[in-house]
Amino acid sequence: MATKRVAVVTGGNKGVGFGIVRALCKQFQGDVILTARNVDLGKKAVSDLNAENLKPEFHQLDICDMSSIETLKQYLQSNYGGLDLLVNNAGIAYKAASTAPFSEQAEVTVRTNFTATLDISNVLFPLLRPHSRVVHVSSMVSQWTGKKCSEALKARFLDPALTIDELKQIMQNFVDAAKAGKVSESGFPESAYGMSKVGVTVMAFIQQRELNSKDDIVVNACCPGYVDTDMTSHKGTKTIDQGAETPVLCALLPEGTDIRGKFLSEKAVQPWP
Ligand code: NDP
Repeated sequence: MATKRVAVVTGGNKGVGFGIVRALCKQFQGDVILTARNVDLGKKAVSDLNAENLKPEFHQLDICDMSSIETLKQYLQSNYGGLDLLVNNAGIAYKAASTAPFSEQAEVTVRTNFTATLDISNVLFPLLRPHSRVVHVSSMVSQWTGKKCSEALKARFLDPALTIDELKQIMQNFVDAAKAGKVSESGFPESAYGMSKVGVTVMAFIQQRELNSKDDIVVNACCPGYVDTDMTSHKGTKTIDQGAETPVLCALLPEGTDIRGKFLSEKAVQPWP
């Protein structure tokens, strides 16, 4: 019996993630699993898509909870024997008006956007089958923030020998610098969200290098554009379906594509930073 192909989207209950699930239900050949940390919100999203005659599966996933990630892995292993597409969309951003101290914003934002995305990768990558696609939903802000990093940091991000452990250390250095009030003098820009997304983008570059020896497994980072969601307080100019377009392009890259280990926005590879 042929194995059933399967896609997982994180943070699928609303916003860009919901738009990505909707598009994949129409375009991905196989099952699409909408995941959400809140079961009620996730099931409500599935039922909204059912009303459009789309049929995603649901599975709970809190990207910051290792046991939740492990449970999803077991589910994929038992029901599908592997994984063909992983879209790491879930993320957070403090509002500009937030009064939370910068040190807290740095720690929490890096923990969710960078560390949790890396945790999922580490747990689920062993399931990836030949021709799998991995999409990290990063941001244009990672380009702007990357450009503002010190020359020494920029050189490290672009060093083809940079490892995931070294990247983790750089992100930890940023959080430590935020706690010590020494962000600028350590070469980092004052953007918790921006640095977290620098980490996500550079993670994709490194992971692709690590996976290059595998059979056509492709990892890219991308920006959805400025999208009308809760994160942007609905100021974004794109609809969630338009925001899904670049992530979905990355998700459905054809066999043998040379778009690998890149940063994309507006459906095209962009220079980074
Ligand atoms: P929303 O705030 O609308 O949605 C974020 C999603 O992530 C929600 O489903 C949320 O779940 C989920 N999420 C947050 N934390 C966790 C967690 N620990 N575990 C599981 N799910 C979690 O944001 P957007 O749709 O706007 O953003 C989606 C992605 O796109 C993010 O990575 C964002 O950084 C990126 N992006 C967005 C842009 C925009 O203009 N909107 C621009 C550039 C990048 P819950 O509902 O439970 O909170």
